[in-house]
Amino acid sequence: SQSCVAALSTEEPELLKESNNGATKPDDLPIYYGRGGKYSGKPRVVVLGSGWGAMSFIKSLSRRDSENMEVTIVSLRNYFLYTPLLPACATGTVEERSIVEPVRKVLGTKGVFFEAVCHEIDPVEKTIKACFPADAEEGCFKVPYDTLVLAVGSVNNTFGIKGVAEHTFFFKSIDDAHNLRRKVSECFERASLPASTQEERERLLSFVIVGGGPTGVEVAAELHDMVLDDLRRIYPDLISLVRIRVIELQDHVLSTYDREISNYTASEFSREGIDLVLNSRVASVDANKVTVVNSQRNETSEIPFGACVWATGVAMHPLIKQLQGKLPEGSQTHFRSIVTDQYLRVLGSEGSIYAIGDAATIQQEKALSHSEELFDAADTSKDGRLQLSEVRSILRKSSEDYSHFAEHARFLDGKYGGLKRWNNMVAGLVKKRTDTPVSALGEDTELDKDAFREIIGKIDQGLRALPATAQVAKQQGEYVAKLLSSGKAKLGQPVTGFKGFRYGHKGSLAYVGRDKAVMDVPSIGPVFGYTAGVMWKGFETYSQISLRNILLVSSDWVRTKLFGRDISRV
Ligand code: FAD
Repeated sequence: SQSCVAALSTEEPELLKESNNGATKPDDLPIYYGRGGKYSGKPRVVVLGSGWGAMSFIKSLSRRDSENMEVTIVSLRNYFLYTPLLPACATGTVEERSIVEPVRKVLGTKGVFFEAVCHEIDPVEKTIKACFPADAEEGCFKVPYDTLVLAVGSVNNTFGIKGVAEHTFFFKSIDDAHNLRRKVSECFERASLPASTQEERERLLSFVIVGGGPTGVEVAAELHDMVLDDLRRIYPDLISLVRIRVIELQDHVLSTYDREISNYTASEFSREGIDLVLNSRVASVDANKVTVVNSQRNETSEIPFGACVWATGVAMHPLIKQLQGKLPEGSQTHFRSIVTDQYLRVLGSEGSIYAIGDAATIQQEKALSHSEELFDAADTSKDGRLQLSEVRSILRKSSEDYSHFAEHARFLDGKYGGLKRWNNMVAGLVKKRTDTPVSALGEDTELDKDAFREIIGKIDQGLRALPATAQVAKQQGEYVAKLLSSGKAKLGQPVTGFKGFRYGHKGSLAYVGRDKAVMDVPSIGPVFGYTAGVMWKGFETYSQISLRNILLVSSDWVRTKLFGRDISRV
């Protein structure tokens, strides 16, 4: 906009010098000093990204708080994307425009937005260098900051496997969903041509999804819905040739959910004809086929495909890697994300850089303050079993430990006698703490020693690495907004009078097809089937960032039910 152009200026370099005690001379790139090209003297808060973490930060910042700061957002996308509905978007169940929100609309008058890619962060000069996405050579500028909020997310993880980047569809952006939607349509159109052989048709109608986490499962479920609801009518002769396969490294899908949920999903998929290729590792991907190794049988096989979706998890953003190298030696050692203290301040940045969401990991030597004591108790217990009373007495020493336990009970699966039992036990411990009697639990309830040891270990580990989810990013964005507004975080000084970040896990949801879903909510336990399906749909609709999108998504569900999906390849 006009005002942004006016604000970009090569004049007043002293201001940049001033903010850095004259340590570094700025190069000849234009520098953005603030609105109207002037440095207002207010603390300059620069936010990188426009995803879950960044938008939650902006939304949580009150107008009054934002008036006390100079807020600038720099992101390579000028919109927020509601990622949980991306699988539904890839099949046209909901439309692209229904799940994106313009950043400028969310930001309003709280700050200034630049659509640009950040290529470099200089933690000494305290500037970021960014360029317009399509113009890396000429559209570049610098923005000085006092506080930088890093919310650039993560990148797709190819694990260095040959052919993944070239031949698979990643599944992270609106373009990815759009491209997949076009590809599926193309596969059906090509398969219906008289010139296609039977072998070619089978390949074109084979859809492979690598990764049995929530994204992979949802993509498979949405594809299957589209085939049954719409494509069956349009291409009746082809439908018997369609195969949808999910390749998963472990012996079950949705491995971070309750085991009951994994089993339910597997049985639903098997009933619906979606194949789960379990215990299998992708060795390489070619233009038309994926090579898979079964780790149990040590067998190699090839699966031809018309489209292959790569949904295996995330890796470190290159900008984060670059920044790690510029911070004091030894301060950053994590291989997947940048490490922060409990206030989400990047270690080695002296409190000037915050990191949230997929890009960040909180440093915790030992998450449970009493984990060592619990391990010892498990080891020395009689008959290899540990009484609940012993656990309780150890945990009672720290109320933090109680809530940590409750929040992270979801890491446990059927191996330990069922999540439900463990959840009950954890809930029991918490309730005991708050003096609510839990009749099902007695002081003499015993725990298997080895299972207990593993449970403690998993909870501890889980606390150190929060999952890469929107839920975490959102809570962290809210936290940093509150902390910065409080004025209790001062550069180069320890934070006092403000609690460290604590993640509150509210539960996990996934759509499994045919209007059914699965829910893993700590306070309720596992829920699946149509009830969960209704709750999932309601939740994903009402969690939209604006009323406009709530209405758009709602009308998309109705449109799809009444008229089916639009399968044209636009
Ligand atoms: P993101 O939301 O990824 O945002 C990163 C931002 O940084 C983007 O705006 C990007 O444009 C910008 N950016 C990147 N590089 C640069 C750069 N160099 N310069 C400037 N800007 C840059 N989580 C859940 O909790 N529930 C779900 O149901 C769920 N479903 C998902 C479904 C899919 C298909 C996917 C892909 C993810 C899903 N997630 C879900 C995970 C969730 O989306 C992520 O954990 C979340 O987006 C992380 O938020 P973030 O702010 O860290 O990063």
